[in-house]
Amino acid sequence: MKVFVLLGAPGAGKGTQAALVASRLGAAHISTGALLREEIKSGSALGQKVKAIVESGSLVDDQTLFECCHGTLVRAKEAGKNSLLLDGVPRNLSQVRILDEVLLKLNLKVDAAIDFEVSKDVLVARLSNRWTCQKCSAVVSGNAEGLAPSSCASCGATHSYARRKDDEPAAVAKRLGVYEAETAPVSGDYQRQGLLHRLDAQRDPEMVYLDVAAVITKKLK
Ligand SMILES: [Zn+2]
Repeated sequence: MKVFVLLGAPGAGKGTQAALVASRLGAAHISTGALLREEIKSGSALGQKVKAIVESGSLVDDQTLFECCHGTLVRAKEAGKNSLLLDGVPRNLSQVRILDEVLLKLNLKVDAAIDFEVSKDVLVARLSNRWTCQKCSAVVSGNAEGLAPSSCASCGATHSYARRKDDEPAAVAKRLGVYEAETAPVSGDYQRQGLLHRLDAQRDPEMVYLDVAAVITKKLK
């Protein structure tokens, strides 16, 4: 089983591409949130520990996160998956090291890291184009001009959409800045290892997919 790390800011389209690769190439795909949910669902002792942490409102520490990652890797391997895509981990250098240790125990390694490059302006425009209905709390994406629909598709209220504070362009730019500072060393590390593939993720998703699929199929040969 080959292991691929997907890198890129929120809004860069990693989830969309991972779903395409999973359905067309038969890869397993796992995001951080799904990793934890899957472990909780398995009912294991570890799952019960994670459940308690999540329910207390605390953040799951790196060590526990990667114990969950181990379980997911084992299950994907047993299911005979040809590849596994990791979306959202590792997100700092310490996690890069822990992931390597977890993989080594299973006789696996990171085969490639794919960096989804999107300019900050485009990310801010994408992420701040989320609108919340003030009446019923439904969330929608706006149109290409970055405007909300005039009436709510869920409750029918007119001119009821507004941006959440978190989705204001200034807040989004701040969030992206924090993300970048934390994860830039990760792509630098994979680059030094000769594992990094950068691709222009601002294009049409089907064009981006061709590049992603090329990296993966080359490793599967
Ligand atoms: Zn509504």
